[in-house]
Amino acid sequence: MAKTNKDLKRIREDILNYIEPNIYNCYQCGKCTASCPMVDVFEYKPNQIIRLVLLDKIDRILDSNSIFLCLSCEICSSRCPQEVHIATIMNFIRNESWKIGEFKIKNIARFYNIFLRITAVFGRSFEPGLIMGMNVLSGKFFNDADAAVKILGKRKIKMLPEFIKGRKQVGKVIKKYL
Ligand code: SF4
Ligand code: SF4
Repeated sequence: MAKTNKDLKRIREDILNYIEPNIYNCYQCGKCTASCPMVDVFEYKPNQIIRLVLLDKIDRILDSNSIFLCLSCEICSSRCPQEVHIATIMNFIRNESWKIGEFKIKNIARFYNIFLRITAVFGRSFEPGLIMGMNVLSGKFFNDADAAVKILGKRKIKMLPEFIKGRKQVGKVIKKYL
């Protein structure tokens, strides 16, 4: 599925009207960018993302790596003197990219997919399943096998999954988004 002009318009309008109407208060001081731990690998820095939203260039944001690599650490939002919630904007655009099938970084998309499927079954994460799923889908079957042996040896993760009470309800919520 590819993004349409209607998608781009809706994403921008939702940000301006509901997600962060405060965005107009940004005066491009760059404090968010100076605080961001991922800035060296972002194609667009946090202050540039804000500018691109205001300039109606949502397509440029969706085509870049920034929203996919953002850690949601919220440092940018907490340091902004104008109380612009940049992390919320990043999260929102990333969620929208998932919905419209424009998720650019394949490994991150695979990770989300496997994580959600596992959580839908057990009601919580199951790390060995997540690791094996990632290795199979990426075609790197023995990726991080040495680290896995050490972690399992120290009993940091469990070999068998745990099922939680209410997992069916958790599954129902998750399946809406798969
Ligand atoms: S810190 Fe706030 S005001 Fe400064 S550039 Fe970032 S979003 Fe804009
Ligand atoms: S939430 Fe994202 S954009 Fe903001 S500081 Fe953290 S990594 Fe950077």
